[in-house]
Amino acid sequence: MAQDSSMLDGTIASIDTAVRSLGLEDDMRETLVVPWREIQVGLPVQMDDGNVRVFRGYRSQHNAARGPYKGGIRYHPNADLDHTRALGMLMTWKTALADVPFGGAKGGVSVNPRELSTGELNRLTRRYTMSIHHVIGVNRDIPAPDLGTSAQTMAWIMDAYGSIHGHTPGIVTGKPIELGGSLGRAEAPGRGAAVVGCRAIVDSGSTPDQCTVAVQGFGAVGAAAAQTMFDNGAKVIAVSDVDGAIINTSGLDIPALLRIVLDGGSVSDYADADPLDNVDLLTLDCDLLIPAAIEDVITPENAPDVRASIIVEGANRPVTSVADEILADAGKNVIPDILANAGGVIASYFEWAQNIQVFNWELERVNRELDKKMHEAYDVTKAQADRNGGSMRKAAFDVAVSRVAETVKIRGYVG
Ligand code: NAD
Repeated sequence: MAQDSSMLDGTIASIDTAVRSLGLEDDMRETLVVPWREIQVGLPVQMDDGNVRVFRGYRSQHNAARGPYKGGIRYHPNADLDHTRALGMLMTWKTALADVPFGGAKGGVSVNPRELSTGELNRLTRRYTMSIHHVIGVNRDIPAPDLGTSAQTMAWIMDAYGSIHGHTPGIVTGKPIELGGSLGRAEAPGRGAAVVGCRAIVDSGSTPDQCTVAVQGFGAVGAAAAQTMFDNGAKVIAVSDVDGAIINTSGLDIPALLRIVLDGGSVSDYADADPLDNVDLLTLDCDLLIPAAIEDVITPENAPDVRASIIVEGANRPVTSVADEILADAGKNVIPDILANAGGVIASYFEWAQNIQVFNWELERVNRELDKKMHEAYDVTKAQADRNGGSMRKAAFDVAVSRVAETVKIRGYVG
C-alpha cells in the first residue's frame, strides 16, 4: 500500500496533479506552491500565577494573486509552520473555487486553549495580534476563527488591531454580531456542505428524502450540515461528537438534538437513540457521510469499509491521500473540502463586504447568496469532472489552480 503523506505533501501533490493537467510551466508551479510570506513569532504572555510563558505563533500567507490573504487562526498544541502552511494553501484553492476575491492564508498558535483561563487567552490573542498587525489589514490579510478560536477571539483581535489602526471591523470575520459579524456566518460552512451534498445525491439519481445520512462531529459545521440535510428531507440516522455517537435508523430529530447541544449537553444526552461506537459511524450503512470534526479520520485502514456512496468533507482533509485513492477505486464520490466547506469563507466574504459598506444584510439575503455561490462552485467542478472523467477533488483543484494561475499571469509575475 502506498505511504500516506503529510497534509502539506498531500496538498502539494494535489497542486502538482492540477499543474500537470493544465500544462503549466515550472516557474508558474513554483509561484503557486511557495508561500509568498510567512511569519513566526514568539509570544511572551503573563499567566494568572504571575509566571511568563512564551508561545509560538505563525501566519502563513500563501498567495494573494486574487485578493487579500484570507484564512483562520488555529489554537492547537500541534500547530506548527508546516501544518499552518498546508492549511493556508488549501485556503487559496478554496477562495478561488468559491470565486470570492481573496487569496489564502492560515495562522496558528501552539497552545492548548482549554488549559488557559479567559484572561490568559485574551492576553495571548492581543500579543499575537500586536506581533502580526503589520502584515494583516482589511486589504492585506483578514483572519477568521478556526479550531480552538471563536467569535470572542476575533473580538479581541479586532480590539487590539483597532487600538493601533482605529476602529476596523473588516480586519477579521466570524466576529460577534454585536461587533459587525454577519448573520448566518456560523452556520454557513455546514449549510454549504449540505447544499453540495444534496446536489451529489440528485446527480446520483436519487433525492435527499430517499437518503440516509451520518454526520461525524456536531459542532459549528456538523450541526448546521445535519440541520440543513434534515430540512431537505433527508433522514439523519447517526451523529457523533468527541464524547460519543448515537444512532436511530428511523431518523434523529435534529432540531431537538441542537437544543440539547446549545444548552451545553452532548449528543449522547439525546434519549431517542442507541449508543454507537464513535469509529463505527464512519463505516455505517448509509447513503451520505459527512465527516465534519477533525482531520485524517478516513484512513487506509477504514476506507475499504466505508459504505456511504457519497462522502462530503465538512472538515478540512478528513480523508487522507491514500484513503482518497481507495474510495475513488471503490467508486465513491468524495466531495472535497475546498468545495464542501467553502460556505465558511463565502459568508466571511459577505461579512467583510458588509463591514466595508457599513451596511448589514438580512439572514435571508446571506443564505440566498450563499446557496447561489455554492451551486455555482458545484456546477463548475462537476462540469470539469465530467469533461476529464476524474474525481470531484481533481476537478476542484483544476478549476482553482487555473483561476489563480490566470491572475498570477495577468499581474505579470510569470509569463
Ligand atoms: P467545532 O469545534 O465547532 O466542532 C467540532 C465537533 O467535532 C465537536 O462536536 C466535537 O465534539 C467533535 N469531535 C472532535 N473530535 C471528534 C472525534 N474524534 N469524533 C467525533 N467527533 C469529534 O469545529 P467546527 O468549526 O465545526 O470545525 C470542524 C471542522 O471543519 C474542522 O476541520 C475545521 O477546520 C473545518 N471548518 C470549519 C469552518 C468554520 O467556519 N467553522 C469552516 C471550514 C472548515
